Amino acid sequence: MVREISAGGVVIRKGKGGWRMAAIELPLALATGAPRSTKRAAQRPKRVIALPKGLVDPGEPPLETALREVREETGLTAVPITKLADIKYVYVRSWGDGERVFKIVSFYLLRYHSGRINDIVPEMRIEVKRAFWTLFEEAPALLSYKGERDIARLALEYLKSKPDT
Ligand code: ATP
Repeated sequence: MVREISAGGVVIRKGKGGWRMAAIELPLALATGAPRSTKRAAQRPKRVIALPKGLVDPGEPPLETALREVREETGLTAVPITKLADIKYVYVRSWGDGERVFKIVSFYLLRYHSGRINDIVPEMRIEVKRAFWTLFEEAPALLSYKGERDIARLALEYLKSKPDT
């Protein structure tokens, strides 16, 4: 089976209303492989909310990939707090020979440093409809993929265990 390795980030920022997390909404074209729960109700608009992530370039340390993808997909510069976990899934390519892909994505907890959310180059709109801040507590309910919901829960647990973060 073909393998793909990606890396991504849970970017958090402390605000007046508590911790916030950066999320992205995918354009409809990329949401066709959306999980069943979002597809079920035909009348509901397809909306896939995800964490920023992308393919690890050859020789690139995954943490660097996560920081780069966060910058490109959200407009934010972030600094590392800790590695969270890897998620794994299999998907079928909708292009080429329709190959099955075994994918591993490493996620890192990152702290917001600078930049404005959704301040991304126009070319990136192919991959990202919009980037936005959401209440961190609400992230597990908001994210479309189970693996990413688990990552958000893990990040919340980390913060609870380390209130001085
Ligand atoms: P990357 O962001 O790593 O460059 P990509 O945009 O090429 O990757 P994916 O985001 O892995 O590709 O999406 C490929 C397929 O896998 C799509 O059908 C998508 O719906 C599905 N998918 C994406 N994330 C997950 C996940 N966490 N769990 C299950 N399926 C997923």
